[in-house]
Amino acid sequence: MNSVYCCPACKTNRSRFNLIEQVVHPIRKDPSTGKMIEHVPLSDPLQFQYQGEPYRVQCGICGLIDDERTFVAFGKQDSFQD
Ligand SMILES: [Zn+2]
Repeated sequence: MNSVYCCPACKTNRSRFNLIEQVVHPIRKDPSTGKMIEHVPLSDPLQFQYQGEPYRVQCGICGLIDDERTFVAFGKQDSFQD
């Protein structure tokens, strides 16, 4: 989270961002009604565990939402052109 970010869409924003915390809620649904049956424990061996990014990032200027690593990758490029 302390890496330099740069928005890959507007390419100029390096300072204003919305951090979006991804909170996993494993659930089971009734397959015919779609109604939620129960919350599944995170340790349930029958359910695949979420392994994605803990954060997504939204550009505070143009609104693009992407994985944090995308913003970090663009932050490593030294292209300050307008
Ligand atoms: Zn942007």
